[in-house]
Amino acid sequence: MIYPVNYINITNKYVNGKHYGIDLGWSSKYGGKNQPVYAIDDGEVIYKYTQKSGGKVLHIRHNNGFVSEYGHLDVWIVNKGDKVKRGQLIGNMGNTGITTGNNLHFGLYKGSKIDYNKRGNFVNPIDYLYAEDYQIISDKTKANYNIKENSYQVKRVISLNGLNIRNKPSTTATIVGFLNFGDEVRVYETTTYWSKISNTSQMWAASNYLS
Ligand SMILES: [Zn+2]
Repeated sequence: MIYPVNYINITNKYVNGKHYGIDLGWSSKYGGKNQPVYAIDDGEVIYKYTQKSGGKVLHIRHNNGFVSEYGHLDVWIVNKGDKVKRGQLIGNMGNTGITTGNNLHFGLYKGSKIDYNKRGNFVNPIDYLYAEDYQIISDKTKANYNIKENSYQVKRVISLNGLNIRNKPSTTATIVGFLNFGDEVRVYETTTYWSKISNTSQMWAASNYLS
């Protein structure tokens, strides 16, 4: 899961019991006060609603057990029911609802649907998000927060017969997917024989067949 904005500047942190997400600010140098907001991962838009305090809000359900929440949007660019891809433009930063200025309130919730009566299911997003190399982290945020950065190698499947994806780095592990010859993957970590091809779930492929 990637950060929802390309200029990462945390203005309010996640505080359990008080603030169930992070607020992200803007810079005139990088996209301005209406900087684009992107889906943090593939998923489906399950909620598009104007809340009193949250303003224009979107929720996206991902297949890894999380729902992402985007608040104070200026405009929505997607609709409820839309399938979205990681990095897809979904709206713009705004100051709808109750804010002290333009910012994105971003929440990450464990479950298939956000229940605002069960706020304990929100997690600290910075423990789960990775900044892509094209995303800019403000100096202050870099100094004050442990922002994880994506480092991966892009490889292709070189086995003509394709390649199984397994849930552990082992030939006896459960098969959870399949790659075709020529498919491009991102390798996030490697063991002697195996490559981890997801940074959010246990998906492993044999390194010998990737190049
Ligand atoms: Zn907030």
